[in-house]
Amino acid sequence: MKTADLIVIGGGLAGLMAASVAASHGQKVTVLTYGSGSLPLASGAIDFLDALAPDASIKRLPDNHPYSKIGLNNIDAAAKFLVDIAAQANLPYVGRLSAQTPVVTAVGTLKFSALVPESMNATRLADKKKIFVVGFKGLKDFYAQMITSNLSRYFPDKEFEFTKRDLKFLGGRDITCMDAAQLVTDNEQALANELKQLHATEDDAIVLPPIFGIMGNFSRSAVQTQLRADIIETTCLPPSPPGMRLQRAFMKHLQASGVRFFENSKVVRGVTQGRKVTGVVVESAVREKIFPAKKFILATGGFYSGGLTMREFDNPREPIFDLPVYFPEGADNWSNKELFSGEPQGFATTGIITNDKLNPVDAAGNVIFDNLHVVGANLGGCDKIFERSAGGIAIASAYAAAVES
Ligand SMILES: Cc1cc2nc3c(=O)[nH]c(=O)nc-3n(C[C@H](O)[C@H](O)[C@H](O)COP(=O)(O)OP(=O)(O)OC[C@H]3O[C@@H](n4cnc5c(N)ncnc54)[C@H](O)[C@@H]3O)c2cc1C
Repeated sequence: MKTADLIVIGGGLAGLMAASVAASHGQKVTVLTYGSGSLPLASGAIDFLDALAPDASIKRLPDNHPYSKIGLNNIDAAAKFLVDIAAQANLPYVGRLSAQTPVVTAVGTLKFSALVPESMNATRLADKKKIFVVGFKGLKDFYAQMITSNLSRYFPDKEFEFTKRDLKFLGGRDITCMDAAQLVTDNEQALANELKQLHATEDDAIVLPPIFGIMGNFSRSAVQTQLRADIIETTCLPPSPPGMRLQRAFMKHLQASGVRFFENSKVVRGVTQGRKVTGVVVESAVREKIFPAKKFILATGGFYSGGLTMREFDNPREPIFDLPVYFPEGADNWSNKELFSGEPQGFATTGIITNDKLNPVDAAGNVIFDNLHVVGANLGGCDKIFERSAGGIAIASAYAAAVES
């Protein structure tokens, strides 16, 4: 087995980003993963922090926060890299770290993110006179009337109209946005014809579920060019076409860059010599296989993806290298009384602690492996859901680890 420059363990947002960045720096990269992670479930927008200006607030975070270790230069470079990779797959993103861009959620509220697919950019609603909200017969979890009712509170001066259209090609069954997106790809003209019947003008916007395919912006462009009104996609309940489009954009880049990508490959343990990882062992039906490399990036996610496990309370584990896992000790500190309280949840801060190079460290700050870097959802020390930093930490840590020599 040839020794790779870099092995990335995990093919979620952080793993894909790390592999793409390293490959674009000329590294020979192998990705080992046994699942697609949470990206196909995610909105496609990348949240960096719940703040008016994420970059200014990131500068004020404490030293032990993952962002403080990653540094603003890497965070900024990561955002630019993602926008570039997506653009190469005809998936334009808008936004910047110094401000937030709104998107319409599946229930008609506005959510603000630093990086947003251009198809979801709700800034464009501001200068419209009339907003059409369009649902489709048979499509689950998209309620045009409820969305209209909630959205009109943000825009009391605008006219709203909601409607439910019957697209025969959707089959009238109970289908998800992901099913619809795949069907729309072969029926763009039928969708365009249906939307033309709204007689919407350039003063209007048409708010729709994200059903314009799972490859870039191709289907939306095909329909948009036939309409005068601006089409704006909402987020949706999982599975999510915009998340899938971003995943496809990364996969396109990895394939073009010659990255070796092994799916259904569960890494079960590391092979180590002192403070060096020399290989990882992949489970196989016949026999275990060792993959050697000079450098390793652990992007296995948190509890959701099996990057962290907890068979007994107060004993969370990292199952591949048995790295120390930080967690708030004591049941009282584990969670707040209310799930949606105004404070971070202790359990959500559980994860691996690193130094500034993202090498895992023990409680005393000693580096455990010099050529292993930890990125994404398995980093500990902050509640990424509460502070709305999950996507930002995933891509920024991945970028920083990939460029670290
Ligand atoms: C429903 C949902 C909606 C979200 N919406 C947003 C949003 O709007 N904005 C935002 O910024 N973020 C959002 N996120 C969060 C964001 O998508 C995640 O933070 C990010 O995907 C974390 O990426 P990750 O790569 O670290 O982990 P994951 O996505 O969990 O990926 C980990 C990968 O590692 C693999 N793996 C685990 N163990 C092994 C092993 N032993 N061997 C090989 N492979 C292994 C897993 O199979 C998986 O592929 C959302 C997440 C979810 C679930």
